[in-house]
Amino acid sequence: MKGKLNMRKIAIMCSGGMKSSWLCELAAKETSYAHGRLLLIFFDHKQQNLDAERKSVRALSAKYHASLLEIPFVFNTHYSPELAIGAWPIFKFTSMLYLGLSISSDQGYDLFYCGFSKDEIEPKYEHGLDYIRTLQGTLSIIQPKYDADGFMLPQIEVETPLAYLDLKRVVRLGEEWKVEWTKTWSCEMPQHTFQCGMCRKCLQRQKAFKDAGVDDPTVYQLVLENKSSVSYTSD
Ligand SMILES: [Zn+2]
Repeated sequence: MKGKLNMRKIAIMCSGGMKSSWLCELAAKETSYAHGRLLLIFFDHKQQNLDAERKSVRALSAKYHASLLEIPFVFNTHYSPELAIGAWPIFKFTSMLYLGLSISSDQGYDLFYCGFSKDEIEPKYEHGLDYIRTLQGTLSIIQPKYDADGFMLPQIEVETPLAYLDLKRVVRLGEEWKVEWTKTWSCEMPQHTFQCGMCRKCLQRQKAFKDAGVDDPTVYQLVLENKSSVSYTSD
């Protein structure tokens, strides 16, 4: 008989970034690369880089033979700088998480991966460890334990495999696992074919590769523009 882990079905909240890719690889390992055991959940919350993120998540879904659920966020609103601060991000993230969990549970998934990493954990930010512990506590209260006939219902668990890793370690482990970084998208700037190389997310990405001592395989818009505009003189 195979271990319980191999029988699990894992849902992953996915944005198509480096951590999403890493989580997919982990989930695939934990389900012994069996087809039909993974579900990727992607939210359209009118993020600036929606199309690029969607493309990356679709590529992940194809690579891992995972089901893909694209959900338009119910409180969808176009991005504005005012919405990036205050209570809105945590409200939005929590709503998406509960929606994703409820759908995953309905579809028979028993494990839910949510990918925030150690370097994102700030008291002011939505992904704090306390936040996730509170969420796990709430989940154990709100999930129905028995059906109408008194039979036990499966419970969904939230796991945050990256909570004790920073992006540098994600890169190092991902290298060993041969994660395809070039298919991941971090950049938050819209309307670029390539990742910009200048925004907060691109800088984080570059730093992660540098700190990990791994060559960054990403093609950045900034580098391309510099190559085409700078003319070298010998001196
Ligand atoms: Zn960028």
